[in-house]
Amino acid sequence: MRRAIYPGSFDPVTNGHLDVIERAVKLFDEVIVAVAANSQKQALFTFEERQELLRQTTTVHAGHLRIVRLDGLLVDYARREGATAIVRGLRAVSDFEFEFQMALMNRKLEGSVETIFLMPKEDYTYLSSRITKEIARLGGDVSSFVPNCVSAALRAKYPLAAPAP
Ligand code: ADP
Repeated sequence: MRRAIYPGSFDPVTNGHLDVIERAVKLFDEVIVAVAANSQKQALFTFEERQELLRQTTTVHAGHLRIVRLDGLLVDYARREGATAIVRGLRAVSDFEFEFQMALMNRKLEGSVETIFLMPKEDYTYLSSRITKEIARLGGDVSSFVPNCVSAALRAKYPLAAPAP
């Protein structure tokens, strides 16, 4: 059983995350999407909301995917679950330095878990949860960046955002 963990904030899940998940489920028997509950980043969506949006948008992978809450250290969780890999998405050179540092630190902490990087479809290389939230906050159309249920959830968070004239 080859098991991988895909950790992140997923605040909220975007088409870029879903692209990475799709690639990961082809490589592993099971992918565990680990939603960071106590990230230092100030989240727009609660942990429960982030988890629910992931559930709704990944039903096609049922049986190969688990969505869990991550509270502690990622490598401890990976060890407990018997996971052999950590999956991260790499969009551009700007992601590289931070991801490289994290991957080497995780290796230092737990030598048996390998970090692998997956590149999304080119269309998603500029996409991030942060930019999507910013566009939604200003009343822009995010329907090509996120699934419909996420667009609706963003509209509910920003009810006063006026659509562009
Ligand atoms: P974190 O707070 O850990 O950066 P994110 O939810 O922002 O969590 O991202 C989780 C992972 O998904 C990271 O590896 C990030 O690089 C990757 N990711 C985010 N957006 C995209 C995208 N558009 N294409 C590919 N990977 C992405």
